Amino acid sequence: MRTRYIFVTGGVVSGLGKGVVAASIGKILQMRGLRVDMIKADPYLNVDPGTLNPVEHGEVFVCEEVWEFEPAPGYRFRIAEIDQDFGTYERFLDVNMHPSNNITSGQVYLSVILRERVGGYLGRTIQVIPHVTDEIKRRIRAVAERSRPDVLIVEIGGTVGDIEAMPFLEAVRQFRLEEPPGHTLLVHVTLVPYLPRVGQLKTKPTQHSVKELQSMGLQPDVIIGRASEPLPRDVREKISLYCSVPLEAVFSDPDLETVYQLPLVLEEQGLGEYIVRRLGLQAPLDRARLEEWRGVVDSFLNAGEEVVIAMPGKYTMIQDSYISINEALSHAGASLGARVRRVFIEAEDLERDSSRVRDLLESADGILLTPGFGSRGVEGMIEAARFAIETGKPFLGICFGAQLLFVAFMRYVAGLREAHTTEVDPDTPHPVVDLLPEQKQVVEKGGTMRLGAHPVRVRPGTRLYEAYRSELIYERFRHRYHINPEYVPLAESKGLVVSSTDPSGRIVNSIELRGPAWIVGVQFHPEYKSRPGRPSPIYREFVRQALLSRRQRG
Ligand code: GLN
Repeated sequence: MRTRYIFVTGGVVSGLGKGVVAASIGKILQMRGLRVDMIKADPYLNVDPGTLNPVEHGEVFVCEEVWEFEPAPGYRFRIAEIDQDFGTYERFLDVNMHPSNNITSGQVYLSVILRERVGGYLGRTIQVIPHVTDEIKRRIRAVAERSRPDVLIVEIGGTVGDIEAMPFLEAVRQFRLEEPPGHTLLVHVTLVPYLPRVGQLKTKPTQHSVKELQSMGLQPDVIIGRASEPLPRDVREKISLYCSVPLEAVFSDPDLETVYQLPLVLEEQGLGEYIVRRLGLQAPLDRARLEEWRGVVDSFLNAGEEVVIAMPGKYTMIQDSYISINEALSHAGASLGARVRRVFIEAEDLERDSSRVRDLLESADGILLTPGFGSRGVEGMIEAARFAIETGKPFLGICFGAQLLFVAFMRYVAGLREAHTTEVDPDTPHPVVDLLPEQKQVVEKGGTMRLGAHPVRVRPGTRLYEAYRSELIYERFRHRYHINPEYVPLAESKGLVVSSTDPSGRIVNSIELRGPAWIVGVQFHPEYKSRPGRPSPIYREFVRQALLSRRQRG
């Protein structure tokens, strides 16, 4: 069967949850037995989001695979860091996404410009149309050729009207013209704001953003209105009339208790049937699959018991910085009948106001020390690890969080007061966390970390093994520094256990404390592989320990 394409654009404002809508469309098609793949086009000029501060653009997601991106003969870049929407796609669809599914303007322009330098366009003027738009279309088709899905959903980042997104929208226009009629669909997701003073939902911003699309030669086939409430019929009628979309093609995306409800809510409104009909597909809904997902959603809705996890970190100003961690905690909680309440603590506050922060840490049932880079707030994060070591509060350190657990242990248990990571203090007399040997020569910053999934050899008899029940696991990594193996013998003599390494035994992949307290640090990022209904084993064990400690404390 020839691949069908669904393009998803966003109107009025950013941050609408367009990624969740795109993933939900994927889910309801998957429930019809269709094979779905997803693309996200990001209009920014970064080659990948790997160098972006999460506070700018949310979390950086890491794929299973590393992609050797070859924009032109003789040029190679490693890409495994992609947009956070891919985390949403993986969690909804339960498939691993390929890094080349994230098309950035940076990659597109890089390809065109480097190709020009190696003589790929001799004699011609290089222009946005057709060269840039051709490259965008080529990339979309390359994904379709690699994974051969029944339906390929292409989410266009940004908001319609942004200058950066124009080449992508123009490429979509051309693409729709090139495919057979009825093989593509354009879904526009917009905000329908509520004005409390007049007590009305307003459709005018939607009308304007659709006009904007139309001015670029694009007519949406489906409009999905984001509003706090389901859109009443008269509002849908208005959108239908002014935006030239049939009434049955105007859908609601209301506030929900969990994002995982959205596929069910859209399915109930008939979106699945509408899409397959418009794309000429014969794909009836598989009730069993729908019920399976409903079961997963119910586990979130029915989770009653509260458990509080304190999350000291450097990027706490926006929730999206830690979206995969937030989701992994909630998957773990739901599987245990518990609702996880997260308390973000800005690492710099930990440095300033220690008594208030101690109270926050004390009142939490567990502490998750977050990933991060650089020196700001680092002493506060080390303090949080020290607090866990001293009080025995369940603790999970992720990547940087694990490295800083090791620093705290070496300082306050092993007695090396000046121990540090060379990322923060290059001249420390005790570099207990140091650059990976292969990183010492690396100067470029983009895509140069140790990335992607790697095998992890788990030591039986450890807390890590208890969680995974396997001696060989695969987890995803994103780091430049590691626990310095030279300090491991001293650490082990003081009560620390190396619970896993890479197969060569060279890279420490996780540590834990011997004794009754559940204090674990993992160099990898298990949150990237956590799925609703199938939580990450180590997150599940952490949340279970936090629940136990809550019950014990009464
Ligand atoms: N900054 C640390 C490193 O590069 C940790 C990275 C992370 O937390 N992802 O190793």
